[in-house]
Amino acid sequence: MAKTVVAKSTDTLCGIAIREGFLNCNPLRAQEANKAYRTRELLAGDKVFVPDLRKTEEGRPTTDTHRFKRKRWPEPSLRFVRGSKTKVAAADATLTFLNISNFVTNQAGTSGTAAFPNGYGFHADADADSDTFKVEVVSPDGGAKIKVLLEALKPVYKADGTVEKWELFSGAEYAARKNEVELVPTKSDAKRYRSRYLRLVSDEADAAAVPAQTLLVTTMSDGLAGEHDKVEILDQHVRASYKLPGCKAAAPVCTVRAQLPVGENRKRCRIAIHVFRVAPGGALVAGLTNRALRLRVLKWFRRAYAQANIAPKFDGPGIEVLDPPWANMIAIANPHGSRTLGLSASGATSTISFDLGRVSQGAVLDWFHDTSVTVNLKPNMTPKAVCDAINAALPAGYRGRVFPNARKFNDLDPSCDIVITKADGTITVIRNEATTDLVLAGAGNLAVARVNLVNVDDSDADSEPTTPELRKILRSGTSADTRIDYFVIDRFASTTLRGVSFLASTHLPADQRNPAPLRWAGIMACNTTSGKVMDASDNLPFTFPHEAGHVLHDRFHADAADPNGPTEMMSGGGTTAANAANATKRICDDPIQVNYSQYNPAQPTQGAVNKVKVAATKGMRTRGAQTLEGW
Ligand SMILES: [Zn+2]
Repeated sequence: MAKTVVAKSTDTLCGIAIREGFLNCNPLRAQEANKAYRTRELLAGDKVFVPDLRKTEEGRPTTDTHRFKRKRWPEPSLRFVRGSKTKVAAADATLTFLNISNFVTNQAGTSGTAAFPNGYGFHADADADSDTFKVEVVSPDGGAKIKVLLEALKPVYKADGTVEKWELFSGAEYAARKNEVELVPTKSDAKRYRSRYLRLVSDEADAAAVPAQTLLVTTMSDGLAGEHDKVEILDQHVRASYKLPGCKAAAPVCTVRAQLPVGENRKRCRIAIHVFRVAPGGALVAGLTNRALRLRVLKWFRRAYAQANIAPKFDGPGIEVLDPPWANMIAIANPHGSRTLGLSASGATSTISFDLGRVSQGAVLDWFHDTSVTVNLKPNMTPKAVCDAINAALPAGYRGRVFPNARKFNDLDPSCDIVITKADGTITVIRNEATTDLVLAGAGNLAVARVNLVNVDDSDADSEPTTPELRKILRSGTSADTRIDYFVIDRFASTTLRGVSFLASTHLPADQRNPAPLRWAGIMACNTTSGKVMDASDNLPFTFPHEAGHVLHDRFHADAADPNGPTEMMSGGGTTAANAANATKRICDDPIQVNYSQYNPAQPTQGAVNKVKVAATKGMRTRGAQTLEGW
């Protein structure tokens, strides 16, 4: 009996024809009711009219058994699978999403260091990467080898940022994001074909490392804040298609397809970038542009973190441009929190004194003395008590904010900072600071943070901002504990230093943890002896992703002695200057775990560090959870 079939997304006219007993789609295409499908491919929901089969008679004796073979069988299909060691191919599960691989592209195995197998069939080393996949085609048309086209599909966004549909990339971008892969028959079923193990990769070097077994799924970011910047790796789809050689239609030939999303349990990481000007209202440090900073986040951070199913999202001020930090912060007893003696050399009550003034905002920066402040000290004052006394002594019109710092290991008290501003908003500058106190007169105990953006004092900077300059920088912008905040300067005093990050240090006792805004944050140089870090080039592509990884992971570096340590994004040997397949860019995921150093939660001795074997993806997604949000 003639009938109407409603097409599924995976259906073709040939497929429906074969299912209903026809040889190919021609009898269906011939139907007037189906004429729309003569010029376009079948879509989900299309109603296909299936005519009656034409009956023929075969003269054969009725007492024998006769075998009739269907000329074109079985019904064609295409799906993504991983394959398995023990099941027959038809029984293997069908994948519902694909992930960017976390492995070095030409490596595999539970060790992460075996060669990536390039044969067909099950291989334990390839299977160890849970992100590998294969394309499977059931073809009624046979052949020793068949070829399937893999393509990355670009999301097309609605005004509200959700995806409206997917389409092919175009031009050179399309050419880089497709791959024709070969399939051979499986052992258990001569008409069920499978590819080699395949991987999705998020940059060109990985795609070039194993061209026959990768599909590039990557950014098209240009930093211009337009449509190209919007395209997320984790919003893309991957499509596989196979044109049926047995289809007799002129065009379009029946093509079996499957399409899967990229990523699972996707998260967005909230980020703000704060960049300083050389002078008030002037150009950005190091000749930077907003475009360069946007590109660093939307290209290399996006590419690196796609393997952890995390994408960057500008939050709060997004990219915040700041005037240079002014010398309006006094640091007391940095870094060891010494207490006052309360006495001067002559045995008199000791004092702290300083001048307060302002700087004109004209073309020439001029100092105007406003007032002088003298604070009498008492014996045994903590740094916070000193800052409170300074605050209380400020003349009318000035305001102080007191910031106790984290207590350093083995110290009795933490150091403390006071930032002084003028209520009328003019730029406040502190000069001529001095103390007669016999303890505070010691090195570093009374310091005004005078930040030189081309020579920032980074002495002893580790996971804590140990110099007044670093803390002044971190207190210059609009920061939040619910995102990662990175400040961009020109250059550190250590000219090899590319960036430093300041951790929440959840493993430390509460008073030793960095207080806000000195945590979930970091400072990036632009100029280093190994070249530019935050400009619009591809130099040191993984340095900013690496620094962000410290705060997300609340951990230090991957162990260089670990077989996978040197290629981890969190490698301690310095991130690689140029992208490559073996660059420092992997974020290990189970079953690969890498030794990472962290503060020892037991703290058997103050500041003790231990090593833990962890999957870095999980570490970052759980320990950095307060900076992440759902997709
Ligand atoms: Zn590091």
